[in-house]
Amino acid sequence: MSNNGLRLVWVYPDLLSTYGDQGNALVVERRARQRGLDVQRVDVRSDQPIPTSGDIYLIGGGEDRPQRLAAERLRRDGGLSRAASNGAIIFSVCAGYQILGHEFINDLGEREPGLGLLDVVSTRGEGARCVGDVLADIDPHLGLPPLTGFENHQGVTHLGPTARPFARVQFGRGNGTGDGTEGAYNDTVFGTYMHGPVMARNPLIADLLLKLALDVNALPPTDDRWYEALRAERIASATQPA
Ligand code: GLN
Repeated sequence: MSNNGLRLVWVYPDLLSTYGDQGNALVVERRARQRGLDVQRVDVRSDQPIPTSGDIYLIGGGEDRPQRLAAERLRRDGGLSRAASNGAIIFSVCAGYQILGHEFINDLGEREPGLGLLDVVSTRGEGARCVGDVLADIDPHLGLPPLTGFENHQGVTHLGPTARPFARVQFGRGNGTGDGTEGAYNDTVFGTYMHGPVMARNPLIADLLLKLALDVNALPPTDDRWYEALRAERIASATQPA
């Protein structure tokens, strides 16, 4: 973190921002400010270079064509990969998650290279699209309460040996491979299929990113009653038959 505060980069809002994923940036910003932290948020459109000096990068979901365009531009730009090699924290959702992997199937039915920042490969699921509310248990190493989110994807994501499952589903599909995993992460790079936006439903994920960025073990408490009410409502929706 520089003297100018925490730098939060929202990657390609013009291509990757389905289902309110931009809310993730709002939640991270708000929870940082509630702790008295100075946050500089930079929204980087796909015709702009990705700054390499960010502390936290957020990437959202997208439809198949914008997802291909985003992958092409991110590969060409190289900034996100450089930021990752400098230890930046990256949190990605759905299409963004697939782009961070080694490859995915694009809108033309071709294998599209990703950035290889996560050891995952995405293929196109043969079955029904994964759509609906999800409830999952986050990897206990991360010390977070159950994950609630909404998924909507055709892609299916397979984890390689150096990617840890971010969570294991109780309800819903997650990575869609049938092994119960949801999302993936390594040290500082995270991917999930959860929209919602996921930070509004799971604000402690935003806190985890802040703690990693600040290199601290704890943050001052916040009043989370609103979030708790939303979580309870969405968990009930995931666990009750439609
Ligand atoms: N296009 C991707 C898929 O269907 C990602 C969708 C999304 O980001 N919601 O798998």
